[in-house]
Amino acid sequence: MTDLNQLLRKNIKNLIPYSSARNEYQGEASVFLDANENPFNEPFNRYPDPLQVQLKKVIARIKNVKPEMIFLGNGSDEAIDLIVRAFCEPGTDNIVAVDPTYGMYKVCADINNVEYRKVLLTPSFEPDVDALMQKTDHHTKIIFLCSPNNPTSNSFSAERIINILKAFDGIVVLDEAYIDFSSGKGFLPSLHEYHNLVILQTFSKAWGMAGIRLGMAFADPGIIAVLSKIKYPYNINILTLKTALESLKDTSGKEKWVSSIIQQRDVLEKELKSVPFVLHVFPSDANFLLIKVNRPRELYQFLVSKRIIIRDRSSVSLCEGCLRITIGTAAENRKLTEALKTYQETKL
Ligand SMILES: *Cc1c(COP(=O)(O)O)cnc(C)c1O
Repeated sequence: MTDLNQLLRKNIKNLIPYSSARNEYQGEASVFLDANENPFNEPFNRYPDPLQVQLKKVIARIKNVKPEMIFLGNGSDEAIDLIVRAFCEPGTDNIVAVDPTYGMYKVCADINNVEYRKVLLTPSFEPDVDALMQKTDHHTKIIFLCSPNNPTSNSFSAERIINILKAFDGIVVLDEAYIDFSSGKGFLPSLHEYHNLVILQTFSKAWGMAGIRLGMAFADPGIIAVLSKIKYPYNINILTLKTALESLKDTSGKEKWVSSIIQQRDVLEKELKSVPFVLHVFPSDANFLLIKVNRPRELYQFLVSKRIIIRDRSSVSLCEGCLRITIGTAAENRKLTEALKTYQETKL
């Protein structure tokens, strides 16, 4: 990996971060007259911990990583944006990413006026390592990978990911938003081997907390220190901190949800494969299924008329005719398959 100080934008490397009252004083006290807070209306009157020490300790234990290797953001989306802003000089640097994939990487690149270079996945939805490397140049700071990938639903081969980590000198972001639904263990256990690796995970999917906006980035402490330096001081609010800490006390609920979703994924996959107009159901390592049909827009509109909303992905690269279906409860999935049967009948 290129030296972190050389990879960073110069202004970010030299930045002196905002120092909040809560940064200056850390410890136990009983009278807080330092932050111009209102003394009334506990507990909402107090600013949250800018470093989220308590929550990071709990996550560190669950994920088996050191707290200094964790960044917490307002969803993974905050981490994505901060990584782009930390490393990519607008108008000069560029990002290389697989295509198709999650849309936020390109949006963040566009917002920051950073060139975004797409490299098509292979026909089996794997990253093409040589083609990715060929797209990079001296100004490529980041490669974005997503495994299991959205919307293709497959995990990338670990060997290919490792080859990219070894071949590229810049930052490799590996988005593992769906890792809990996957049969693989992901790259957290390998984090120590790759100093250029940033792993993204989230509370939005397996943990069932998309509404509290909490995402995680795991990386070398040097990279985490940079993200912490440039984030909004109080990026995680006290309601989110409190809810997350409460939910993490007992992880058995989350594990039950995940196994139910995986089981329902198998049920729905079989059901969909028996539907005559479904041409293909792609193997999924995530909490959604990608299917291929002849007239995706028509089927999408039909389901909307039945008040069932899925995602039309048919205009996405390599996804011609494809629709993306999130796995719901058994009852919700049944409503979907019953609606598909009536659609079939209207076609006869
Ligand atoms: C859903 C999803 C996320 C989650 O983003 P949050 O901002 O944490 O809600 C991240 N990456 C991918 C690929 C996703 O599909």
